Amino acid sequence: MLNLLAVGASDTGVNPWVALAYLVAGVCFILALRGLSSPATSRAGNRYGMIGMTIAVVTTLITHDIASLPEIGIAIAIGGTIGFVIARKIAMTAMPQLVAAFHSLVGLAAVLVAGAAYANPGAFGILVSHIDPTGLETLVISPVSRIEMALGAAIGAITFSGSVIAFLKLNGNMSGAPIMLPMRHVINLGTLVAIIVLTALFAMTDPAPEWMFGTILVLAFVIGFLLIIPIGGADMPVVVSMLNSYSGWAAAAMGFTLHNTAMIITGALVGASGAILSYIMCRAMNRSFISVIAGGFGAEDTGGGDGAVKIDRPWKRGSAEDAAFMMSQAEQVIIIPGYGMAVAQAQHVLREMGDLLKEKGVTVKYAIHPVAGRMPGHMNVLLAEANVPYDEVFELEDINGEFAQTDVAFVIGANDVVNPAAKTDKSSPIFGMPVFDVGKAKQVFFIKRSMGGVGYAGVDNDVFYMDQTMMLLSDAKKMVEEINKSLVD
Ligand code: NDP
Repeated sequence: MLNLLAVGASDTGVNPWVALAYLVAGVCFILALRGLSSPATSRAGNRYGMIGMTIAVVTTLITHDIASLPEIGIAIAIGGTIGFVIARKIAMTAMPQLVAAFHSLVGLAAVLVAGAAYANPGAFGILVSHIDPTGLETLVISPVSRIEMALGAAIGAITFSGSVIAFLKLNGNMSGAPIMLPMRHVINLGTLVAIIVLTALFAMTDPAPEWMFGTILVLAFVIGFLLIIPIGGADMPVVVSMLNSYSGWAAAAMGFTLHNTAMIITGALVGASGAILSYIMCRAMNRSFISVIAGGFGAEDTGGGDGAVKIDRPWKRGSAEDAAFMMSQAEQVIIIPGYGMAVAQAQHVLREMGDLLKEKGVTVKYAIHPVAGRMPGHMNVLLAEANVPYDEVFELEDINGEFAQTDVAFVIGANDVVNPAAKTDKSSPIFGMPVFDVGKAKQVFFIKRSMGGVGYAGVDNDVFYMDQTMMLLSDAKKMVEEINKSLVD
């Protein structure tokens, strides 16, 4: 089999064994996505993904015909070492900007592959014979390859510049607030039309002119920048998943240039799943999917949660003992984790608290909002890491109706996702986002570090000041450790 694969090294596009190996890898990736759709099957999903990736990498190594094995080995060693060091060092709360940074690299890789194919088409096997009007025969890049090349470069450039802006915003190097250019929709549409027209001309003109390729690239870099700068504040989660989708399409475009079926399949899977995730997140936040694609929604967002609000209303302070006593007397406690739990790394002590309450006969449920934390699935990952049983974890629409019959809503480091202003205040940056109705519970506990601190959208929360609310002001991990101590005593 390996020999048969190697025989096809010079013609990877048609060797049936290579095609079969890539097809098997593609099926593994589809099974991986299916497995990852539920926490209970996600381990199996991960395993399918690893098997598929191993098949794809081994097949590519055996049939390599562009770079030599030592060159590939050196590249893998450098990239792998950088990835390993970053993965060891990165804080969970910095994942969104890391993901944005990685997406920018996928975009850049697509641009470089398209550029390499344009500069050295012979190495990519994309030259065809062309006879000009004087009867002179020359070799030119095939029109289909030129379309693939232009699209790959354009999608890659959009992904690159868009991801760089998303990284700068999420990392706090640039204001999180939307930057609204006048006539931005006209500028965006005009730029997009110019890219499409130039791509068509690039495919029809022989030999393909350098200035056209360069202009397509520059315009694509510009539109990536223009699409992301108007997005800000609480709308950034959708941007992260949208860029994920763009990076998939960029990889698929690279697959066409390299005639690599595995890349086409994998890129399309990433592109489609990222687009579906963006759609789901838009629905969860009550935003229009079309406005996201066009860039420039979230115009009224204040962005960034670094500010502080002025407190001029009465509120009640509670203690760890209060919380431990009330929860141990409750029939049902719903825990709502948010970004602050991730900052404090309080998931393990939180699970211990849940276990202690269950030992006392209390029903414990965890309620997860689709945009809680700072990346899609942030809370699910942390609770799974702490071995919280999957059947105790509920999504917004499955649990929101239960707050009215619940004794205690225990909010740990969440703010925006439990803010009723999303339903009542049209001027609020989070207006329209579905939120947990924690105010309907008989008793509400809020863990946060100070009354003045705000969430990502930078707005105050009326639930802090309700009669049945007690504020537990402390670092989340420290407070839950104290509650656990009281529950044991
Ligand atoms: P928020 O950002 O609204 O609130 C976080 C809360 O945690 C604040 O009240 C903060 O108050 C508190 N906090 C911070 N650190 C600690 C700590 N160490 N101990 C205790 N409390 C702490 O979080 P939510 O999860 O409710 O909402 C997520 C927000 O992020 C949404 O607006 C969402 O749109 C946005 N977002 C989501 C992304 C995603 O993909 N999930 C990506 C990007 C943005 P204090 O400072 O007083 O402690």
